[in-house]
Amino acid sequence: MQEVEIEDEKRAIIRRYRRLLRHAKPVLKEGDAKVIKKAFNTSLEAHKGMRRRSGEPYIYHPLEVAQICVAEIGLGTTSIVSALLHDVVEDTDLGLSDIERMFGTKVMKIIDGLTKISGVFDQGSSQQAENFRKMLLTLSDDVRVILIKLADRLHNMRTLDSMPQEKQLKIASETKYIYAPLAHRLGLYAIKSELEDLSLRFTDREVYDEIITNIDATKGARDKFIRNFVKPIRQQIESLNVPFEIKGRLKSIHSIWNKMRKQNVSFQEVYDLFAIRIILDTQFENEKPMCWQVYSVVTDFYQPNPDRLRDWISIPKANGYESLHTTVMSDKGQWVEVQIRSKRMDDIAEKGYAAHWKYKESKDGESGLEMWITKVREALEQNDSSAIEFVDDFRSNLFQEEVFAFTPKGDLITLPHGATALDFAFEIHTEVGSKCIGAKVNQRLVPLNYVLKNGDQIEVLTSSKQKPNEDWLRYVVSSKARSSIKDALKEERKLFMAEGKEVIKRKLKQMKLNLDQEVLDQLTSYFNAKTPTDLFYLIGKGKIDHNEIKRFKSLKVNPRKHQTQISHPKDLKTKKQEVRRSESDLLLIGEDMDIVDYKFSKCCNPIPGDDVFGFVTVSEGIKIHRTNCPNATELLSNYGYRVVKAKWTSRQEKAFVAGLKIIGTDRLGLINDVSNVISSEHKVNMRSITINTDGGIFEGEIQLYVDDTKHLDQLIRNMEKVNGVLNVSRFN
Ligand code: MN
Repeated sequence: MQEVEIEDEKRAIIRRYRRLLRHAKPVLKEGDAKVIKKAFNTSLEAHKGMRRRSGEPYIYHPLEVAQICVAEIGLGTTSIVSALLHDVVEDTDLGLSDIERMFGTKVMKIIDGLTKISGVFDQGSSQQAENFRKMLLTLSDDVRVILIKLADRLHNMRTLDSMPQEKQLKIASETKYIYAPLAHRLGLYAIKSELEDLSLRFTDREVYDEIITNIDATKGARDKFIRNFVKPIRQQIESLNVPFEIKGRLKSIHSIWNKMRKQNVSFQEVYDLFAIRIILDTQFENEKPMCWQVYSVVTDFYQPNPDRLRDWISIPKANGYESLHTTVMSDKGQWVEVQIRSKRMDDIAEKGYAAHWKYKESKDGESGLEMWITKVREALEQNDSSAIEFVDDFRSNLFQEEVFAFTPKGDLITLPHGATALDFAFEIHTEVGSKCIGAKVNQRLVPLNYVLKNGDQIEVLTSSKQKPNEDWLRYVVSSKARSSIKDALKEERKLFMAEGKEVIKRKLKQMKLNLDQEVLDQLTSYFNAKTPTDLFYLIGKGKIDHNEIKRFKSLKVNPRKHQTQISHPKDLKTKKQEVRRSESDLLLIGEDMDIVDYKFSKCCNPIPGDDVFGFVTVSEGIKIHRTNCPNATELLSNYGYRVVKAKWTSRQEKAFVAGLKIIGTDRLGLINDVSNVISSEHKVNMRSITINTDGGIFEGEIQLYVDDTKHLDQLIRNMEKVNGVLNVSRFN
């Protein structure tokens, strides 16, 4: 490298460092600047000569992570120091003891936590779920570990361009699956949205680009609409004599996409692309009355939809979010969401936890976030189900909104939306849940699976004879209830297993046989049980007739006849090796057919031209999925080690099934015209067609055989030309 360039680089590093100090300045106390400088110099020296994949000096990364911690999360000196040093122990010669000596125990512990969970990102193996759990466990030590980890992930996502494609996919999926919901739960909305948008960019570039193009193209019209909408209310709010700001907030790309997909509408049909946000600069004591006064002004001019009023000021969300939301009808005949909040509430909404901390002294008692952290800790402490299950249970909680119910004494209980009387009972206490036989809601008797409504007052009814059963898992949605029920069932299973083992021993003794490994294996396969423990359970529970065991003896003469094929995890390895033996880990679809056993997955029906990957299954060989398959995120993030790169070759002999959804206005002969397009197209065959018409709207689903995506796209374009057809899209 030229000397000039090295000098340039040095200057760029210093520039970034100064920017960090500038942002940190308001929170710095005496002596802080010195510690930050020391951390910066230590990190600079330790990472000397190292570069990121993009070619930039490595130190840019810790500097940016620290910058995010300060400017976007609002953290202080300890976090800045830890962020600057976060990769030092893992990637350089410095050890934890060096860090402790130089920066103290607190920083050392945070870095230790960060180093422990860094495997998630860097190593190819997917210890994903287990790591996630570890990460949450560190919550109990210092919540900063998670916040810095989020900053680290955000910067890695911002610079993901320089990674190879399959790594991009895996990291992006993992981000969507784990980190974005986590940011959401911590109230870091801005970061959550950016993580989601970036992960969409790397998993479905086409959709992402299309939405960006549409947003740009419609900007002028949108700005004008907002100006007109705001004009009359602005004057009225000014007369309230409180400083304020009105913004038009655009929805994130990811949530626009979500809406388009869920409701199967085009960009133009997403009616709530943006919200109007009114932010008041007012004293804490006046927040609530002021917000409602502004609400009153807005609804004087525009008719509100009473179903869409949300008062998160009186009852904040569990993550600390406070705001008043209403949806009103504009004079253009369009619903518009209006969010009214104070500057403090806005700060919490954007920066989450740290901002909450900052304002904490103004409210007494526990904050919603602290309550949440306590809940997570509880869930972790009592949960011994497998790590994957935990992530699943946990994740489903993250995505749900909440329902509020009360105890007979009037205590407020917050549960995920969809929670039942049984969830409520478990939320009060595990013992109350396990003995629950029903409940009284507002004096009326209801069953265990009664779904709670906001404001319900609930009295749990118990009986000492009651105990949890398998059905209960279908009645509950909260992770606390789920894991308690699973624990109880596991306990019961253990008892049956012990009993089953005793029965087998006794019967074998009568037949003069010992319970050794060989006999056990034979018994297991004779009764078609998955594992020996499964066999014990089936016998203990009485699902296998005990006398059958005697009959087993006669078969000992010729045991082979009854051996069944059982898939062991070992098989996975062999299958994966088979793939490896073919060309450099890459599965060539169309060519490797005879070497490797693979199939196309039914959940997304890939066709040539789609971006795809292979997934090694336990019993069905390799399945080919589309990268935008609804299951892809979960597979890629949880079972990364079972993923095989795959590519289409030009040698496809068969035709592929693809499904199309057609929406249009019904008219005579429409179906005929659509079928004509299909049959006139070269080499296309229809497999099935279903049509629904309702109130003049025509909705059809067609399955057909095509060669590849090019072929299919051509067909879609032709179908869209048919008079009356509004939209043709692919479905899985
Ligand atoms: Mn890092």
